[in-house]
Amino acid sequence: MTNFKIAEPQTIDQVTSLTIDKKDKYKLMAGGTDLLAEIKDEIIEPEVVVDLKSIPDLSYIKKEKNGVRIGALTSLARLAEDTLIKNEYPALHEAANSVASPQLRNMGTAGGNLCQRPRCWYYRDPQVKCRKKGGGRCFAFRGKNKYHAILGGGLCYIVHPSDLAPALIALDAEISINSPKGNTTIPLTNFYTLPKINVRKENILAPNEVLREIKIPLIKKEEKSTYSKFIERGTWDFAIVSAAVKGTVSGGIFRDITIVLGGVAPVPWRLTKAENIIKGKKITEDLVRKATREALKEAKPLEENGYKKELAEIVLYRAVLSLL
Ligand SMILES: Cc1cc2nc3c(=O)[nH]c(=O)nc-3n(C[C@H](O)[C@H](O)[C@H](O)COP(=O)(O)OP(=O)(O)OC[C@H]3O[C@@H](n4cnc5c(N)ncnc54)[C@H](O)[C@@H]3O)c2cc1C
Ligand code: SF4
Repeated sequence: MTNFKIAEPQTIDQVTSLTIDKKDKYKLMAGGTDLLAEIKDEIIEPEVVVDLKSIPDLSYIKKEKNGVRIGALTSLARLAEDTLIKNEYPALHEAANSVASPQLRNMGTAGGNLCQRPRCWYYRDPQVKCRKKGGGRCFAFRGKNKYHAILGGGLCYIVHPSDLAPALIALDAEISINSPKGNTTIPLTNFYTLPKINVRKENILAPNEVLREIKIPLIKKEEKSTYSKFIERGTWDFAIVSAAVKGTVSGGIFRDITIVLGGVAPVPWRLTKAENIIKGKKITEDLVRKATREALKEAKPLEENGYKKELAEIVLYRAVLSLL
């Protein structure tokens, strides 16, 4: 591991001015649960780590008349325990609660969870220079690809590892970004990018931009949500396949429904086709399975991960059923 300095800005503006000309020499750190592992494993070698936790007031959950605002530095533990989130946004509560272990939830933050880097074992191996690290090949394509993407791959087959991301996208969340070019608010779904846009990155953030806040609209009358996650081990683990579902339902029929899958693609994957098939019809296991199959017709599994198609049918059915 190479030595690095720590910078402790007191405001977000100081972050953007600190890093403006330095690009990759700087890395932002929130809880450090992912970033420090990357440094220790020599996947990245920053000269300066900018500690966002030194900025006061970036950890909060506030309900206002247009929605709920969550500071990027809010810990995952706080998100998982918050009564408002638990009562009004069960999908987010369940997603936060499913992340890693209590220790990691205490350290990890909401913003860090959305910006974390992929878990592909070739990416995490310091000896391997795959395409995401500037090399010429994707080793997962013909290699060990049991956990990789069945949709949206191509140059690189990572799956986005965040549990919060599918849940927040299903809840129509927006994020605010502080940038030297000015501050913007965008739908979270527009934050994530496929490998074909830039194989080295998973989102649109420039190195000197900070994700400052997450905003979720107020829930509508009768709106319900849930997050269902399939993991391989009995204890904590990343999602093999997960499904975030939000909708209004009565008499076993969804008037509207939003479905976002995790664990299947380099970005959280919206299943619009499945939503259209399910909407307005009496829910049965057959209907949900058929809807998932239709929506996943475009999937292109690799040698070892075809099982994810069927698993998605089951995970989605469990999620939908829990909202009836
Ligand atoms: C053993 C283990 C198990 C895990 N299991 C799960 C799991 O089941 N589900 C899951 O979702 N995650 C899981 N994770 C990942 C974990 O949730 C993330 O490491 C954590 O959420 C990252 O948050 P952090 O605050 O520590 O981010 P950091 O490690 O500080 O940062 C992560 C990345 O985000 C960037 N970043 C952080 N905050 C900001 C910001 N505000 N603006 C711009 N960039 C930012 C950093 O530069 C860095 O690249 C696991 C991690 C470990 C080590
Ligand atoms: S899936 Fe992506 S990160 Fe993994 S080996 Fe291929 S290019 Fe690298």
